[in-house]
Amino acid sequence: MTLLSVNGVYKHFSGNKAVDNVSLEIKEGEIVGLIGANGAGKTTLFNCLTGYYRADGGSIIFDGKHIEKLKAHLICRMGIGRTFQIAKPFGDLSVLDNTVVGAYNQFKSKSEAYAEAKRCIDFVGLSEKSDTDASDLNTGEKRRLELARALATGPRLLLLDEVMAGLTPTESVEMVELIRKIRKSGVTILMIEHIMPALMSLSDTVYVLDQGKLICKGTPAEVSENKQVIESYLGKTAEA
Ligand code: ATP
Repeated sequence: MTLLSVNGVYKHFSGNKAVDNVSLEIKEGEIVGLIGANGAGKTTLFNCLTGYYRADGGSIIFDGKHIEKLKAHLICRMGIGRTFQIAKPFGDLSVLDNTVVGAYNQFKSKSEAYAEAKRCIDFVGLSEKSDTDASDLNTGEKRRLELARALATGPRLLLLDEVMAGLTPTESVEMVELIRKIRKSGVTILMIEHIMPALMSLSDTVYVLDQGKLICKGTPAEVSENKQVIESYLGKTAEA
């Protein structure tokens, strides 16, 4: 079943075609990768899908309903959660209190919201840090907190914006396992990631953006061999 259908979406910033006529489809249960060079438009597309920006044109259909004109909190309530490229938790709130902010998206009662927050903290492996202030977490722990908060909103589709950025190799391996576990729990995933081995091993389908336009869609193997993708992006990450 198609969970998300994006049709001819564009977003321009005074002449800069950040997202230019992008169409993509995500089936329930998939992990879909979104790659492209810096400035290709990946985060802008995420912002359009989550209502942080209003797309200038095109349609976005989630679970059969048009969402392209809805505000962010309504889209979140319908079941699209996200993490942010730069994790910005409330530093002087504990891990638990940060996560409960997400859980209030699903639950009105304090006891239910806290129970869900605790479940999500346990799910991401942060239980021992539940009472720690977010500002005292290291980068890997902050990424897990981002995930706990996003999961606590109760998403059916989770958008991950570079959740592996800044992680050590060991933390990256753990993050790959955690993303697999999230998918297994029934959550569909769309992820932006620059760490290619991780993205390619996780994704069922990969879309490639270049200067706002989609230039390729395929399995990880197909995308890795595409000449245009190698020229515009993969060749450069290999050199970096
Ligand atoms: P990165 O991998 O570096 O995060 P990206 O693929 O996510 O890059 P975007 O952040 O979506 O790229 O940026 C796409 C283009 O849109 C860039 O040229 C960027 O400067 C521009 N852009 C993004 N947000 C805004 C904004 N709020 N106002 C003006 N221009 C913007």
